[in-house]
Amino acid sequence: MDKCCESVTEIFGSNVFNDSVMRKRLPEDVYKSLMKTIQGYEPLDPVLADVIAKAMKDWAIEKGATHFCHWFQPMTGLTAEKHDSFIYPTADGRTVMEFSGKELCQGEPDASSFPSGGLRATFEARGYTAWDCTSPVFIKEDGENITLYIPSAFCSYTGQALDKKTPMLRSMEALNKQAMRVLRALGNKTSQHVLATLGPEQEYFLVDRSFYERRLDLVLTGRTLLGAPSPRGQEMDDHYFGTLHERVASFMHEVNIELWKLGVSAKTQHNEVAPGQYELAPVFATVNVATDHNQLTMETLQKVAARHGFVCLLHEKPFVGVNGSGKHNNWSLVTDDGTNLLNPGETPHDNMVFLVVLCAVVRAVDKYARLLRASVANAGNEHRLGANEAPPAIVSIFLGDQLTDIFEQLAAEGAKTSKQGGQLKLGISSLPPLPKDCTDRNRTSPFAFTGNKFEFRMVGSTQSTAGPTFVLNTIVADVLAEIADELEKAADVTTSAQGILKRIATEHSHVIYNGDNYSAEWVKEAQKRKLPNICSTVESLNTIMDEENVNVFERQNVLTKAELQARTEILLEAYSMQINIEALTMSNMVKRQILPACVEYSSRLAGAVESISSAGVSADTQKAMLEKLCGLISSLDEGVKTLEKNTGKAGEIAGVSKRAEYYREVVIEAMSQVRRPADQLEAIVDAELWPLPTYAEMLFLK
Ligand code: ADP
Ligand code: MG
Repeated sequence: MDKCCESVTEIFGSNVFNDSVMRKRLPEDVYKSLMKTIQGYEPLDPVLADVIAKAMKDWAIEKGATHFCHWFQPMTGLTAEKHDSFIYPTADGRTVMEFSGKELCQGEPDASSFPSGGLRATFEARGYTAWDCTSPVFIKEDGENITLYIPSAFCSYTGQALDKKTPMLRSMEALNKQAMRVLRALGNKTSQHVLATLGPEQEYFLVDRSFYERRLDLVLTGRTLLGAPSPRGQEMDDHYFGTLHERVASFMHEVNIELWKLGVSAKTQHNEVAPGQYELAPVFATVNVATDHNQLTMETLQKVAARHGFVCLLHEKPFVGVNGSGKHNNWSLVTDDGTNLLNPGETPHDNMVFLVVLCAVVRAVDKYARLLRASVANAGNEHRLGANEAPPAIVSIFLGDQLTDIFEQLAAEGAKTSKQGGQLKLGISSLPPLPKDCTDRNRTSPFAFTGNKFEFRMVGSTQSTAGPTFVLNTIVADVLAEIADELEKAADVTTSAQGILKRIATEHSHVIYNGDNYSAEWVKEAQKRKLPNICSTVESLNTIMDEENVNVFERQNVLTKAELQARTEILLEAYSMQINIEALTMSNMVKRQILPACVEYSSRLAGAVESISSAGVSADTQKAMLEKLCGLISSLDEGVKTLEKNTGKAGEIAGVSKRAEYYREVVIEAMSQVRRPADQLEAIVDAELWPLPTYAEMLFLK
C-alpha cells in the first residue's frame, strides 16, 4: 500500500468509538451485550453502562479530550450540545477524571430555549437527552478543545419528542416490524431485522469570504436578497463535472480528511450545475447514522470553508437565476443478512419480495404525497420546488422502462418477463463492450428508482435528512402493515400477493411518470391525473394535520397527534421568522447602502448636467440618465416604505398559520417590489459606488 492510502485507512474512523475500538476495550461479555442492544434485541443493562462509560472516557482522554457532551437534534433542524468536563475535585484539592454510566445514558439540558411548539411551557424547563447507542460516539477537535460527543435523543419531562432523532428511531422500529412481517409471510425464515439505509448527496455553494462579509443578506439570511443577474450564468453548461479549481480541490481534500476522522465515509465530490456550486456524497449507512453524519458534514463544510477563506452556503437558493441546492436522499431497505430489498435482480418479474416492497413504496408515496411534500417544505425550498426550477412540487415516481413495463404487466395479467439491458457497443475495437443498464436515468424526477434504491430529490440543502426520512419510513411501514395483514390471513400466499400487486399497480399507475418533470406539459398532465401540486410552503405545512396523516403517525407509533401539531407550529413559525428577518435585512440594506449610493450617483449626474449645460453643450444624454435614475430611486424608496409598513403589521396577526400566510402573500410580494428597482439600479449605477459585491464576482471569482 502506498503511503497516502495507508494514511487514509489509518485516519478513517480514528476519532470514533467504533466496533473495532469497542471490541478491543470492552470486556467480551459487555461488548456482546452492547451489540445486542445496538441491534435492537434487548435494552442495555444499566450495570454495564458504567463499564462502557469508563472505557469511553479512557479512550477519549488518551485522545486529549477534557469534556463530553450529549449531542442532540432539536426541532430547529440544527444540532445542540452542552459540554461538561470529566473533572471531579477531590478532598485534597486535586481532581480525578470520571465519567459514569448515568452521565453516558442520560443528560438533562434546560429545554426551555428550544422550540417545543407548545408541548412545554417555558417555566417547565426540564428536558432529557438519552444516549442513542445505535449511532457511534465520537471525538471532535475544535482547535485546542477536544470533546467526546454522545449522539442523543431529546424529549420533554413528559416523554414527548422534542427532536428529530426520536421519531427517526421510532420509524425505524415500525419499518423493521412491518417489513419483517411481510418477509416472514413471503417465506423468509432467516432474516432477523430490516434496516432502512440512506445516502444523502449534499449540494452547496462556495463564496469567497471577503464578498460574503460585505453582504448583510448572506450573513443574516444565507441568501442574496438583492442582486442583478451576472452577464454570464450557467448557460455554458461548463461547470457540471468540470475540472476542480485548485483552491476548491484543496478545500475538499481537507473536508474529506476531517470527515474520515469522524467515520463519515465521504466518497464522491464534484462541481455541480451552477457556477460556484459543488456536491459531496458519502457511502450510504443506516438512516439514523447517515442523518447524524449529514449533520456533521454540513458543519464540517462550513468549518473547513472558513479555513480556506471561503464561506459555504447551504441555503436552498442563495442566488436567483442559477440552480439552487438540494439534498438527494437515496433510500433503501436492507436485511441484517445483507439483502437489499429494492434490488430487482436479473429477473425482477419473478422476484416476489422485490415486487411487494417496490409496490409498497409506490402506494405509500402516492397515498401520502402531500405529507412527503410537507416534509420538505421550508422557506428556502419554496424558491426551488414549483418555482422556476426543479424538481416541481408535484410528487411523482420514475420507475424507468424495465420496471414500468413490469408494473403494467402486474396491472394486467401478472408479470411474466423482464426487459433486459444488453450491451453498449462503442464502435471502437480497443474498448470492450459495456454492459448497458436496463433503464436510462431521469434527473428531473422528484422520486426516482435508481437501480437498487429510490432517490428522493425534493429535500432542501439546509434540511436535516431526518424529517423526510422518518416520513418515508412511516408511510412505507404503514403500507407494509396493510400487506402483512392480508398475507398473514391468506390461504394461498402467492395468489394473495399477486392480487395485492395487481391492485396497487392499477390503483397507483397515475403516480408513475418517466418523462421530463420540468416541462409545462407535465404540470398540465399531472393536473389531469389529479396529483397534488402544492407550491406554497404554508399551504403544504397546513396539510400535515390532515386526518390521514395524524392517523398514519399514530398507527405506527412514530408521533402522537400533539407531537405532530407541535412540529407543524414550529415549522410555520420558522417560516414567518425567516421571512421577517429577510424583510428587515432587505430594508436595512436598501436604506443604508443602496439608496445612499444611488443618491450620490444622482448628485454627480446632476452636477454633470449643470456643468455641461453651462459650458454650452447639450446635456440631454446625462439628463435622460438622471431622470431614469431618479425614477428608479423613487420606486425603490416607495417600495421600501411599503415593505416596512407591511412587515410591521405582521406582528398583529394572530395564529401561526394566518401569520405565515400573511408573510407569504404580503411581505414576500413587497420584497419583490423592492428588489425590482434595486436590481435595475445596480445595472446603471457607477460600479465604483455600488456597495455590494455582484453576482458575477461572487459566482466566478475564486
Ligand atoms: P447516483 O446518484 O449517481 O446513482 P451513487 O451510486 O453514487 O450515485 O449513489 C448516490 C448515493 O446513493 C450515495 O450516497 C450512495 O452511497 C447511495 N446509495 C447507494 N446504494 C444505496 C442503498 N442501497 N441505500 C441507500 N443509499 C444508497
Ligand atoms: Mg444521485
